[in-house]
Amino acid sequence: MYLVRLIYTSEISDGFGPNDIEDILEKAKKNNAECNVTGLLCFNSTHFLQCLEGSRKAVNETYHRILNDTRHRNIIMLNYCEIVEREFENWSMGYIPYSKLTTPLNLKYSGSSAFNPLAMSAGSAHKLMLALRDSLLAHAM
Ligand code: FAD
Repeated sequence: MYLVRLIYTSEISDGFGPNDIEDILEKAKKNNAECNVTGLLCFNSTHFLQCLEGSRKAVNETYHRILNDTRHRNIIMLNYCEIVEREFENWSMGYIPYSKLTTPLNLKYSGSSAFNPLAMSAGSAHKLMLALRDSLLAHAM
């Protein structure tokens, strides 16, 4: 089964509530663990940036469920490709909150100091998530 990586961005919809991020993470961790999907979700209270990796079938099925979720909108796929190995294998869904999306990181990977994944190339979004992964790993030690 081929390994693939999918990166997309979206923004919260009007129906998004204060407890929804916890609900999304809980569901994502449970579902993803069952189908061996791994990845990272960044959220700054308005925008999401998510990476999903796993078998082509599992990533496609997960993404289709995510597309139908009314808690977000303007869902834009930034990248979809075959990969030879996972980069987020430690997390069924790692979470990066607003406090970690710092001005220096945003400036490094986009033209703005604010977190706006729509203003990032696919390559920059991917690199940003790798930097965030490394910071998560460093803090776990
Ligand atoms: P149920 O939880 O029973 O949901 C059934 C249906 O109701 C689904 O269509 C679901 O989208 C919808 N739904 C559920 N709760 C709400 C709600 N509070 N408001 C509106 N609609 C709702 N899921 C994953 O499995 N893996 C992920 O990595 C993942 N990442 C996500 C990232 C984002 C930014 C968002 C918004 C959602 C994400 N989800 C993820 C959740 C996903 O969209 C589905 O809600 C979930 O996978 C459905 O799980 P389920 O099949 O057990 O159905």
